[in-house]
Amino acid sequence: MIIVMKNGATEEEVSEVMSKIEEMGYKAHLITGVEKKIIGAVGDEREKAQLESLISMPGVENTIPILKPYKLSSLQAREEKTVIKVGDVEIGGKHMFMVAGPCSVESEEQIFQAAAAVKEGGAHVLRGGAFKPRTSPYSFQGMGEGGLKLLKKVSEALNIPVQTEIMNPEDIDLVAEYVDILQVGARNTQNFPLLKKLGTVGKPVFLKRGLSTTIEELLMCAEYILSEGNQQVILCERGIRTFETATRNTLDISSIPVLQQETHLPVVVDPCHATGNWKYVIPLCKAAVAAGADGLMVEVHPNPQEALSDGPQSLKPENFHKLMAELEPYIKLAGRTL
Ligand code: PEP
Ligand code: MN
Repeated sequence: MIIVMKNGATEEEVSEVMSKIEEMGYKAHLITGVEKKIIGAVGDEREKAQLESLISMPGVENTIPILKPYKLSSLQAREEKTVIKVGDVEIGGKHMFMVAGPCSVESEEQIFQAAAAVKEGGAHVLRGGAFKPRTSPYSFQGMGEGGLKLLKKVSEALNIPVQTEIMNPEDIDLVAEYVDILQVGARNTQNFPLLKKLGTVGKPVFLKRGLSTTIEELLMCAEYILSEGNQQVILCERGIRTFETATRNTLDISSIPVLQQETHLPVVVDPCHATGNWKYVIPLCKAAVAAGADGLMVEVHPNPQEALSDGPQSLKPENFHKLMAELEPYIKLAGRTL
C-alpha cells in the first residue's frame, strides 16, 4: 500500500502515520518528493485490510493498494492456466470447450432431442436448467428434481456430461448427485453462502458474471469458491447491463483479454444471454474465440418457438451445426482445437 501525504503535511503527521503502519505489522518507508511525501507500507496487505483506514489520519491524502485483492484466482499466483477435466473433456488449455443445450429442461422428448443435436454438432457438455431464476415468479420455474433426473438419464444414454444451474445452497448435494458441472447464474454471482458451500464440493463450478459485477468482483466471487478448497472454477462472461437496449445485455468482449491476463481460470463466453437474440450469436461466438475465450456456451432448442424460456435467443439444431462449421477456422486461427 502506498500512503500519499497531503502537501504541507507536518513532520509529526508523517511520523504518526509511520508509527501506525509499523504497529499494524508492516514496514514503513518514507519517500520525500519535491512537493509531497509518500510512505510505502510493505507486507502482504491482502491479509490485513486495515491499511486503508489510514486515510482518516491527519495529513493523509490517499491510500493506494498495490496488490490485487484476489490471491488464489490470480495468474501471478500460479503462472500457468488451470485445466479442468470433466470425463474426457478438458476445459482450458488448448481445447475450445463447447457447452450447448436448452435454457430449461422441459420434457424427456425435448432434452433427448436437444442432447442428440448438440452432441452431433460437437458439443462437449449438455446444458439444461432444472431450477430456473426467472425475473417473474409467474414464469416457468423449471422442472426441479424431475429435470435433474432427465439430465442424468440423457447423460447416461448419450454419454455426454451435463451442466445445470444451482440457486439454493440447500440443493447442492441433490444437484451434485445428478450433474457434472454446477452453474451459478448471473443473479447469484455474489450469493456468498452459495459460493462458500460450492467451495466444498468436488465438482467444477461454472460461475457466471452478474449483471452489474465488475471483473474484479467476479474474481473475488471465484475467490470464495477457491478459498474453501474447490479449485475447479470456470468463469463465464454473459453480458452486463448497460444503457443499450438493442440487445438484452451488452457482451463485454474486453473482459476476455482482461480475464486472460488476470487469472489462470478458464474463461467461457455466453452470447445468448448477452444479446437475447439468436441472430447475433454466431458472429459473437467468432468474436469471443478471436478474443481468446477458452470456451462458449450457447442455448440450443429443438423448437425455439415453443421453448418455455429463452426461445428468442436459442439456436435451432441446424443453426448450431452452422455455428460449429463456421467456427472451425476461427478456432484454428486462435491456435486451438475442438
Ligand atoms: C441460463 O444460463 O439459462 C441463465 C439463466 O443465465 P444467466 O444466469 O446468465 O442469466
Ligand atoms: Mn437461459
